[in-house]
Amino acid sequence: MDGTFKDNDLSKVVAADKANVWHHLSQHKQYETSDPRIIVEGKGMRVWDQNGKEFIDAVSGGVWTVNVGYGREEICDAVRDQLMKLCYFAQTAGSIPAALFAEKLIDKMPGMSRVYYTNSGSDANEKVFKIVRQISHKKYGGKKHKILYRDRDYHGSTLAAMSATGQHERIAQYGPFAPGFVKVPHCMEYRKHELGLEDLSGAEFGRAAADQIEKVILEEGPETVGLLCLEPITAGGGVIEAPEGYWERVREICDKYDILLHIDEVVCGVGRTGKWFGYQHFGIEPDFVTMAKGVASGYAAIACMVTTEKVFDMFKEDPSDHMSHFRDISTFGGCTAGPAAALVNMQIIEDEGLLENTTKMGERMRANFLKLQEKHAVIGDVRGKGLFQGLELVKDRETKEPVDEAQAQAVVGNCGAQGVIIGVTNRSLPGRNNTLCFSPALIATEEDIDAICDAVDNALTAVFG
Ligand code: PLP
Repeated sequence: MDGTFKDNDLSKVVAADKANVWHHLSQHKQYETSDPRIIVEGKGMRVWDQNGKEFIDAVSGGVWTVNVGYGREEICDAVRDQLMKLCYFAQTAGSIPAALFAEKLIDKMPGMSRVYYTNSGSDANEKVFKIVRQISHKKYGGKKHKILYRDRDYHGSTLAAMSATGQHERIAQYGPFAPGFVKVPHCMEYRKHELGLEDLSGAEFGRAAADQIEKVILEEGPETVGLLCLEPITAGGGVIEAPEGYWERVREICDKYDILLHIDEVVCGVGRTGKWFGYQHFGIEPDFVTMAKGVASGYAAIACMVTTEKVFDMFKEDPSDHMSHFRDISTFGGCTAGPAAALVNMQIIEDEGLLENTTKMGERMRANFLKLQEKHAVIGDVRGKGLFQGLELVKDRETKEPVDEAQAQAVVGNCGAQGVIIGVTNRSLPGRNNTLCFSPALIATEEDIDAICDAVDNALTAVFG
């Protein structure tokens, strides 16, 4: 890969892009007046833009997706072969890759037993909400229908998924939302003063943070609550890990009040944190898991909702009720390229030992960042697991006041100029995008990790001195 292209003059593409594409999460004016970046090629951890400039991609395609890296011929071959054989058939029938991937996936998820293919991560989350509403009608006369979600978590861009989202920027202008969604507090140790729990630490803090969920359940009435929906590590809300003791207590609370537990693994799923799924670090078993981004590393679109035999059983045919099944479909759940790509993606992770590499490289990245924290006072907190890390930037370590969003963006811009693409997030509160985020491909080497951290070091010096 040398960054040269058949058609070296991509100015026509840039013009077409500027004139016709409405870009995600982008301010129009800023985009129009900037020199837009068209990503033309990728190989391994690296991508090249329209000018042939090479970048280390420290965000796996921008949004934590390309887990096994770019240019994997074996995935492309499998997708091509499958598309030539059968490109699509609705999931009302079976297909070979859908059956085989479901079997392989379930093998990695003890306690789970059924895979439901969907259009997107948001759509997968919607399935869970619909199932919970249907169970509420079937078993509880429609009463146990409320869905609890957490402050700072994100569950997607569709209306019910937004109704379950606790991030200011994502929801501020899009209400009114669906009824029956209730917010519970977050569990962020770095900002535990916001929860009034500043005197607690470690597992004591973790349990107390979970107890705040129980308080909301009791206020709402446990007989009205059907689901608790959480991210294993909050992604867009600022790369937030739950404290010790939290997850065990969450599972205990759900069991106590007969509430189903849904873990949204759209970001953490399929290796990102060093285990197949983020929740597998916590020693608990959920009732629902949803996933999307890394399932096929972006080589084909695939998302799914996975649940237990116990939930599946509730929808078995009841001769007295012709509506007893799950009355739902997602058109693109029937695309065969997704599971064909996902099967090979998972095989690559196994064959190349990428879970182990993720743990090892994640530890290296964290150690590098902790050293940077000693050098740069602006780094308030270092968070994350595996190759999913965040640096929260603050003006003052005592007050924890976030840096201005423009300064965090300047760090991202400076890294870009050095040839390293990083991200910034924390969409929880107005103007709080102050957390740098990193999610390189699971194939990252020590040299890649060090190059990413060196670029951050230089950028922090350039922006903050
Ligand atoms: N859940 C989480 C945790 C996410 O981060 C996202 C997207 O970033 C989604 C759900 C929505 O996924 P999709 O964009 O595939 O609908």
